[in-house]
Amino acid sequence: MPLVHEATIAALATPSGESAVALVRVSGSESARLVGEIFGATPRPRLAKHCDYRDRQGRVVDDVLFTFFAGPASYTGEDSVEIGCHGNPYIAQRVLEDLFARGCRPAEAGEFTKRAFLNGRMDLSQAEAVMDLIHARGERALEAANRQLRGALGRQIAASIERLVAVVAEVEAHIDFPEEDLPPANRIRLLGDLASLRHDTGRLLATAHYGALLRDGVRTVIVGEPNAGKSSLLNRLLGWERALVSPEPGTTRDFLEEARVLGAHKIRFIDTAGLNPAPAPLESRGIERTLERAAQADLFLLVLDASRPCPTLPPELAGRLQAANTVVVWNKTDVAAPGQLPSGWRGFAQVRVSALVGNGIEELERAIELLVDKDLLKLDGDLIAINARHATALAEAGECLEAAERKLRDQAADELLASDLRGALEALGRIGGRVDHERILDKLFSSFCIGK
Ligand code: GDP
Repeated sequence: MPLVHEATIAALATPSGESAVALVRVSGSESARLVGEIFGATPRPRLAKHCDYRDRQGRVVDDVLFTFFAGPASYTGEDSVEIGCHGNPYIAQRVLEDLFARGCRPAEAGEFTKRAFLNGRMDLSQAEAVMDLIHARGERALEAANRQLRGALGRQIAASIERLVAVVAEVEAHIDFPEEDLPPANRIRLLGDLASLRHDTGRLLATAHYGALLRDGVRTVIVGEPNAGKSSLLNRLLGWERALVSPEPGTTRDFLEEARVLGAHKIRFIDTAGLNPAPAPLESRGIERTLERAAQADLFLLVLDASRPCPTLPPELAGRLQAANTVVVWNKTDVAAPGQLPSGWRGFAQVRVSALVGNGIEELERAIELLVDKDLLKLDGDLIAINARHATALAEAGECLEAAERKLRDQAADELLASDLRGALEALGRIGGRVDHERILDKLFSSFCIGK
């Protein structure tokens, strides 16, 4: 049953600007009346109809294609209309002004999706996935958003909530009957249930890192000696002259950042100041900042000049480079053959390129993609990537579960135990946006014969 919102809302659903078509969306209880008034037509759900849009003065604004959706089987769960007009911002504006004059009010940001959530068409994690879907700039991000939109995260959380509700119900039943403490055998069983629940929330929590990689992009820091060809390589990877290339060492004193989609991923390339062992004062600051960037990197491209001996890296950086997060890029292979990597670097992916000529760039791109998929995302099944809000809730749920386990073990009072369990339940419920106390009561009454 859709919730009744007083206002019927309207907004442009496509970017304003000239385009083939623009879509104006309307949602609310007045939708059917508006269709009758504007188009002189009886609203027939899901049937696109070609009509003149006439404003309140009867002037034709445009010929449009409109579709009426009857609630609750609509995006928002309410009656709604989509009006496709010619993609002229002036026409879209005229249509909107007319709709406002007829009693609609401008929709707030996200209000259509908010109504979809409030009307039970989707849970909060799905509503968030709508935004992820719009912002996805790589195949993996798209995959994760689509999965979440189809309820993958919501289902996992719902399953955990279901199990937790059973535990809460059992504990609370004993609170209601103080003469019957939780028997030791039950305590042991519940301990097992809680440990398994905590394990599941922990596994989901671990995907927060993937979420950041997919949504924000993989922070890939390009490091190496001055003049190794880092800026030239950045330009090659981007396909345009983003960075200044100069034969003078120490030209890049600050860092440059530019993102592109590489295969299935959004990669943020960050060019840094060269790691000069004997820097000038201004260069030193650049190197400091390089090391700061390196501390936040997901991935490194270590650019080595093939015509020079392998450099010694500052220990702060060397300590961060691992086979799982670094591609060694031998540059300038048009003029020299690469040397040997020190023995400690065994297992690192190595690619030979010439940033000047453009050789080896595709191999480098493949090596980056492989590292992201295999070592950063560790893709080995369903891709679920939670966001920061989910992570906060999951971490809180994990802490509450741990506290509950401790209380169970210490034979603490059932009331205290129940309070931690409810905390965990509330935290998990926040992910989908629903904390349903009714369900605990239902469970309690149905499976524990309270009426005895
Ligand atoms: P950075 O200081 O590491 O950013 O290096 P740059 O990209 O500014 O390049 C330093 C110098 O090396 C410039 O003169 C480039 O033209 C040159 N260079 C860069 N890549 C190559 C390459 O693959 N081959 C050759 N021969 N020269 C290169």
